Amino acid sequence: MEYGPSVEDSSNVRDWLARNPAFGHFIGGRFTSPGKTFDSRDPSDGELLAQISQGSAEDVALAVKAARKAQKGWAGLSGSERARYLYAIARHVQKRERFLSVLETLDNGKPIRESRDIDIPLVARHFYHHAGWAELLDSRFPGYAPLGVCGQIIPWNFPLLMLAWKIAPALAAGNTVVLKPAEYTSLTALAFAEICQEVGLPAGVVNIVTGDGETGAALVASDVEKIAFTGSTEVGRRIADELAGTGRKLTLELGGKSPFIVMDDADLDAAVEGVVDSIWFNQGQVCCAGSRILVAEAVADRFERLLQTRLAKLRLGAPLDKSTDVGAIVDPVQKDRIVAICRAATDAGAELIGGEAGEGCFIAPGYLRGIEPANPGMQQEIFGPIATLSTFRTADEAIELANNTRYGLAGSVWSESATVATDLAARIKAGVIWINCANLFDAAAPFGGYRESGFGREGARIGMLEYLAEPAVKAVKEKPTT
Ligand code: NAD
Repeated sequence: MEYGPSVEDSSNVRDWLARNPAFGHFIGGRFTSPGKTFDSRDPSDGELLAQISQGSAEDVALAVKAARKAQKGWAGLSGSERARYLYAIARHVQKRERFLSVLETLDNGKPIRESRDIDIPLVARHFYHHAGWAELLDSRFPGYAPLGVCGQIIPWNFPLLMLAWKIAPALAAGNTVVLKPAEYTSLTALAFAEICQEVGLPAGVVNIVTGDGETGAALVASDVEKIAFTGSTEVGRRIADELAGTGRKLTLELGGKSPFIVMDDADLDAAVEGVVDSIWFNQGQVCCAGSRILVAEAVADRFERLLQTRLAKLRLGAPLDKSTDVGAIVDPVQKDRIVAICRAATDAGAELIGGEAGEGCFIAPGYLRGIEPANPGMQQEIFGPIATLSTFRTADEAIELANNTRYGLAGSVWSESATVATDLAARIKAGVIWINCANLFDAAAPFGGYRESGFGREGARIGMLEYLAEPAVKAVKEKPTT
């Protein structure tokens, strides 16, 4: 990969990787010696970054034991004492912002601008926000208790941010955790373990066991009180089957195929910018990506011309280059998946504009036009920088197309009329709807889906309830007074 003058300096991350050629798990406050390992590579050029340990069922059992040993002590702290640790974690994340951004970009392939301006600041924000909840716990949730030990399994598209979404509320509520990062992207989770050490977090409160789906399955099969899973609908379904009837708590954040509706009175320039934020952000590897663009027929030609002009200006390239808009797909396996769905879509009659598969893990941003509702490209989650573009005549038709999916995670509506936008938003069956914007996240706004996008919410007050056990209702029979 050619690096120009605007490339972010990665020397301190490379020094850290040189000191840590192989990682063990983080269990009971310390790193274990590396066991059986697999390679972790930079997807933009295939460079070996580190060896990651493949967690066994025994490793998972040790981590759950450490978490259980720590749980009573952690839950026994006052909310404001736990908050102090969460504030300290947030501060340390901010202090290491550059380091963590570069590490995330090297490991995942996302543009440095995104990890620096979006992922890592949101990680800090999530810990600050949940420090607040720890402080408020007794007053806002009287009688509620932590669940105990929580098993948490996360994907690779926002590695450290997904970790923060899982760990911050769990800890605020008095739980301890065993978290398994995705096999493609374990490095920022391991750097996070160092932050836990730096802030003096009591041993066993956070445990990180790396590995693939087998390690995840071992965590699901363990005796933790809750599983919080973010990933594919297929694996989510398997986990739900496994936990059925066990009484253990489960939240699932799964896939999506979200509609992006442009009405005839929309600000088209803003809507095109919204598409960039929606489907070409993070190479389209975003569960809530507005991947189905639905445009009012009256403005469709003008919208598409603007879209093509903007598309031509997007810069595909080295993720560490600060001017890059679209970086690398996380892994060759995922790239092949995207290419295969696009091929199935064009075989079924759609036309692909842009979207060329390049060398290595690169795929140019693009979209599928002339696509029928039943086309696989319209139904399957592509999870890459490829949208679909179709038109509608009436608002009813827009809603019918928008809801013609097995998912229900998010949606985006573009109109200059607040009445039109809010009416449409109310009719889309999805957990999160954005109006005249897309992919905006905040720790204070709950996130989650319906149908095959999963259940449960993360963030805000409702997200805290997912990590708490309701108080028992105690009825006291009053003695007769006479
Ligand atoms: P995946 O389901 O294959 O993997 C997700 C995680 O689950 C990884 O850590 C993986 O190792 C683990 N895993 C795999 N098999 C397992 C098993 N049998 N038991 C337990 N754990 C197992 O998904 P992926 O390909 O890594 O991620 C992409 C998918 O995740 C997309 O469908 C995307 O929409 C979804 N996603 C959803 C959200 C959300 O918040 N709704 C966020 C990010 C990604």
